[in-house]
Amino acid sequence: HLRAAQAAVDEPVITRDGHRLHVAANVASAREAEQAAEAGADGVGLMRSEFLFLESAVAPDLERQQREYLAAARAMEGKPVVVRLLDIGADKQLPYVSLPDAPNPALGERGIRLWSNLPELFDTQLDALIGACRQAPKDAAGRPALRIMLPMVTDVVELRWVKARLAARAEALGVEELPALGVMIEVPSAALAAATLAAEADFLSIGTNDLTQYTLAMDREVASLAARSDMLHPAVIRLIQLCLEGAAGRCPVGVCGAAAGDPLAAVVLAALGADELSVEPSRVATTKAALRDRDLAAVRALLPSMLTLDDASAVRARLVQALPAAA
Ligand code: PEP
Ligand code: MG
Repeated sequence: HLRAAQAAVDEPVITRDGHRLHVAANVASAREAEQAAEAGADGVGLMRSEFLFLESAVAPDLERQQREYLAAARAMEGKPVVVRLLDIGADKQLPYVSLPDAPNPALGERGIRLWSNLPELFDTQLDALIGACRQAPKDAAGRPALRIMLPMVTDVVELRWVKARLAARAEALGVEELPALGVMIEVPSAALAAATLAAEADFLSIGTNDLTQYTLAMDREVASLAARSDMLHPAVIRLIQLCLEGAAGRCPVGVCGAAAGDPLAAVVLAALGADELSVEPSRVATTKAALRDRDLAAVRALLPSMLTLDDASAVRARLVQALPAAA
């Protein structure tokens, strides 16, 4: 009985109308990647590398990083593992890095924007990832299962810059095969430019935490706004729809924000056309269960009327009414 339940968790999700979805996990370490593998995740959709940079009073060196990334890839045995480049600034700080003062840190230099301030930190991380990719298991397509993802991208200029940097570092290290490079969609401009980004990136991943924050102009750290700061707001749904339409046919698109692990939001994201949902390891099984046997065409038929509703609570109420089993 237990073995049958475990087998169901390990299987990929196929919806009633035949869509195949990956449910991957968000992790902070190789240890958590092992837990994600045990939980039946179809990969790691987001490895938040900041946590490695928080474990001591100085930045982790190249060897320490390479070991951690490689261990995460090995834990997943060839399923994709996406490592996000250091994402600091705003709500994420490191004790040994002093960031430029900004009146509003969420709109200041953060994520990929910090590369020119912190070239050694980013270059070392890139070198560690290139090194780890060399030894990582191969994915189903025969490429390294370890992949790189860029946080807080605003436009394709940033992607091109990192691509060139990645190629230069790989050449300096004598590595021919470049790791796949993806872009997080966390800024409304990036969502609206999805077609351009998807033409030059290997994959996109929508970070709904920041995308919701920046679309609604509601700070994710402000508790009194938390109830309204919801990805199911019609404006955010519409933006994600535009993003998925823009990227369609160009590259795969996943979702790695907290909304991916919310049963109602997960169904909407799948109906909008997301290829992968990446959730906390403890939510892999429930997210698969919420999607399995779901008729996405029926959910898609609800989208136009959902987009005319007033706010996220109205969308939630509509979904609960229309999809009682998912509530
Ligand atoms: C996001 O913004 O949705 C995301 C996944 O990144 P983080 O929560 O680490 O900012
Ligand atoms: Mg984010």
